[in-house]
Amino acid sequence: MSNQNFRSILTGSFSTPCADNPTVAMIEAAYRHAGLDARYINCDVKAGNLAAAVRGAVAMEWVGFNCSLPHKVAVIEYLDELAEAARIIGAVNCVAIRDGRLVGNNTDGKGFLASLREVIDPAGKKVFLLGAGGAARAIAVELGLADVAHITVVNRDPAKAETIAALVRDNTKSDATARPWVGNARVPEGTDIVINATSVGLGDADAMVEVDPDTLAKGQVVADVIPNPPMTRFLREARQRGCTPLDGLGMLVNQGVIGVELWLGATLDAGVMKQTLRDIFGASDA
Ligand code: NDP
Repeated sequence: MSNQNFRSILTGSFSTPCADNPTVAMIEAAYRHAGLDARYINCDVKAGNLAAAVRGAVAMEWVGFNCSLPHKVAVIEYLDELAEAARIIGAVNCVAIRDGRLVGNNTDGKGFLASLREVIDPAGKKVFLLGAGGAARAIAVELGLADVAHITVVNRDPAKAETIAALVRDNTKSDATARPWVGNARVPEGTDIVINATSVGLGDADAMVEVDPDTLAKGQVVADVIPNPPMTRFLREARQRGCTPLDGLGMLVNQGVIGVELWLGATLDAGVMKQTLRDIFGASDA
């Protein structure tokens, strides 16, 4: 008989396609750094197989999993409980399994907020939010729960912007309004935080969101959700104008930290995770 333990703690991700998702590299590097015998398995799960995948995770006693596109809403019907933000957002990207019970969380907005708090306390601030997709929705709800004063949600499809503004008004103490995105958007005077939560810039370092960069003001925090490449054209324009740029790597890293805290109760080294992503995507100050 051996005293050694050959059983690893199991975590992972269900999405499709999944091959370009770097989370596995980031989390497994941090598991190794922490000396944890834990694995993160990146699984390609097609929409019709989600129920079986969830049952499999429970059967194999995984402690939790992330779910990404296309499962963030569909997974909810297999869960026992939802955390507050996940309930308001209506989407789950992180499930914790304890004693066979499945609890759904949404770490998209929480990861963004943890990253934002490294440069500014959002309470009482005015926010200009570009985009009204899943990332924008999660970010807006968390900003509302963090007591920002006001969010202006700007989107090409104004109905989606209004849905998010109403979610914030109805579920948090913050105020929010929607605005259609027509031509080059102008950032209103008095804005403290500007966020690109669109997909513009993903995989294209020269793509620029349709914002007049001369309306950005010195001292503003300008954040981008795009993790690849981290230093987007929008952030470069903001940095040139004396703004504080915040790249999408911090959001991704903090989602990893928060997810593992929910699963294992352990706080992984964010620095190790960020360096792993930098090695994959290129340095964020490039
Ligand atoms: P969605 O598809 O749900 O939403 C995309 C949004 O981008 C919509 O509001 C869409 O506007 C807008 N958009 C797309 N192209 C343009 C354009 N040319 N001009 C103006 N608006 C545009 O995507 P998600 O919200 O899920 O993801 C958005 C981005 O966030 C992705 O690039 C993803 O990589 C990133 N992300 C980063 C994370 C991180 O941890 N760093 C986590 C999650 C997402 P419309 O509604 O009018 O079509």
